Amino acid sequence: MRIILLGPPGAGKGTQAERLVKKYQIPHISTGDIFREAIKAGTELGKQAKEYMDRGELVPDELVVSIVKERLTEPDTAKGYLLDGFPRTVAQAEALDATLQEVKTPLNGVINIEVAQEELLERLTGRRVCRSCGATYHIKFNPSTVRSVCDKCGGELYQRDDDTFETVKQRLEVYQQQTKPLIDYYEKKGILYTVNGAQEIDAVFQEIVKFLDKFVQS
Ligand code: ADP
Ligand code: AMP
Repeated sequence: MRIILLGPPGAGKGTQAERLVKKYQIPHISTGDIFREAIKAGTELGKQAKEYMDRGELVPDELVVSIVKERLTEPDTAKGYLLDGFPRTVAQAEALDATLQEVKTPLNGVINIEVAQEELLERLTGRRVCRSCGATYHIKFNPSTVRSVCDKCGGELYQRDDDTFETVKQRLEVYQQQTKPLIDYYEKKGILYTVNGAQEIDAVFQEIVKFLDKFVQS
């Protein structure tokens, strides 16, 4: 199963990805996570990416594409994968298509999670993430049992540097201009499925699973 989770920042891609990869036993490839890990490790990639991320801008296509291409050569991707946060531009989508065409493993589906702009702002500024395992929470919509402590691993919850009001506004703007055109791009290819992301987390999950089980072969 080779699928993409598409949607604006805060739509719930990471939240759904956590559940989907568990159910379907496929690797979760999040370019945002890859960059955050590189920043934490203090690598050259991390330094380059941080500049853009802190401003709420996209990391240049060449850099992102080369990282994803390399990741897709790893053996665990043979059984499929879930891409989260990639592609984010038409150029990235075209590069991905070209790569997958070469190895004759086309995408099976693109799930577009739709959420209204006003809701996204509240979701992102209230998001908390576990420093140890990366699990995602929300102070109001999906709180941890004990404040600032991860239910899954006991790790510390923190607020991402780019989840501040100003940066979030910039990221939503960037989404409108550079990422939203991908909805059309994948619709034309006939592999787009749009879900209503404004429902409860479990309801969104059930809707995605229903689609995958019906239309996407493993
Ligand atoms: P993305 O990966 O698309 O940026 P996340 O999965 O990190 O989005 O979700 C953003 C925030 O919204 C998180 O704090 C998460 O807990 C919360 N969230 C995710 N899905 C829902 C939902 N269906 N209803 C309410 N809040 C949600
Ligand atoms: P995310 O964790 O998906 O919200 O991504 C956080 C940030 O990482 C984005 O605001 C971008 O700066 C950068 N990033 C993640 N994925 C991509 C991508 N596919 N293309 C460009 N920049 C990306």
